[in-house]
Amino acid sequence: MIEVNPNVAAMAPYALPDISAAPGMEAIVLAQNEHAYAPSPAVRAAVAAALERAQLYPDSEWRELRAAIARVHDLDADRIICGAGSMELMGALMQAYMGPGKQLLMTQYGYLFMRTLAKLVGAEVESAPERERCVDVDAILERLRPETRLVFVVNPGNPCGSVIHNDEIRRLHAALPDDVLLLIDEAYAEFVDPDFHAPLFDLVGAGNVVITRTFSKIYGLAGLRVGWAYLPEAIRDQLRKVINPSSVSLLSQVAATAAMQDRDGETGARRLIAEQREYLSDAIRDLGLDVVPSQTNFILVDFASETAAADAFDFLRGRGLIMRPMGGYGLPGCLRITIGTPEQMRATAAALAQWQQGRD
Ligand code: PMP
Repeated sequence: MIEVNPNVAAMAPYALPDISAAPGMEAIVLAQNEHAYAPSPAVRAAVAAALERAQLYPDSEWRELRAAIARVHDLDADRIICGAGSMELMGALMQAYMGPGKQLLMTQYGYLFMRTLAKLVGAEVESAPERERCVDVDAILERLRPETRLVFVVNPGNPCGSVIHNDEIRRLHAALPDDVLLLIDEAYAEFVDPDFHAPLFDLVGAGNVVITRTFSKIYGLAGLRVGWAYLPEAIRDQLRKVINPSSVSLLSQVAATAAMQDRDGETGARRLIAEQREYLSDAIRDLGLDVVPSQTNFILVDFASETAAADAFDFLRGRGLIMRPMGGYGLPGCLRITIGTPEQMRATAAALAQWQQGRD
């Protein structure tokens, strides 16, 4: 028998949802928080032109992409690293900084992938409860222990879609010892109304803060796998040893650069998604169901019971609409719905109304 790493043996396979439709149906997948729209013509043209250079390895320094990000967000390009999705960067951080006897402190509904990563390196996981499906800074601080080495906050949160004000995250950071790393996962940050709060990038100067973002959500490039982190140089140097220097392909870098430069595209996408999110949230609330207020491209719908959520899931799947069950997050009475096109949202609202009528 070939011996497997015991940490890996103890891990559950990463649980990807079943996104297949009922037989004979074409699936409208609203289960993965992907963007509703395909990349813009400018992004496609950049990718097509870059194919001419596909015999070459990608830039392992991501120079153009980092410059574009730095320009848009007014950041220091030397403090940016890129990876094959923010998942790769989270994995690298975990490998570089966590291990047995060290504790990851996350929140009740925080991104489950971090638990998997913690298992891989043999780190312990503690979870702070959320309050009204929002990150609760006091609950996190109450659970800090000497062995806590990494505090992980997702803002806006997934699967709840709720946002806490960045001032709360500043309060959390101010209360953390210098030798505790604070990882802020901002995968959905671009969906938040820019007037709601100022960005947190300046916190990185403190030396113990890492912020991750992604091109998988508002930039619509989930299939190309590009994420980035803003982080102190000392942490950057460690992560560079761990990540694959060629993991972000040439085409991915070019696409992400073009997407980042399209500022009107981002503003337009934020508006379109917000309109559809409010439309669907209102329509579902009108049916008497609870929807967590969201500032993201998804909503969490509470059906109040596991049976009702499972029944609604099956009913919608029978109409080709695939939602995300939330049992894995300890929310078996909920389904998460990704915000799609106006047509998809009308179909979702109509199908849920039909489902509700069938129950009356
Ligand atoms: N963080 C959160 C909260 C997410 O929901 C996701 C993707 N579903 C990610 C990170 C990872 O995104 P990616 O690896 O595509 O950048």
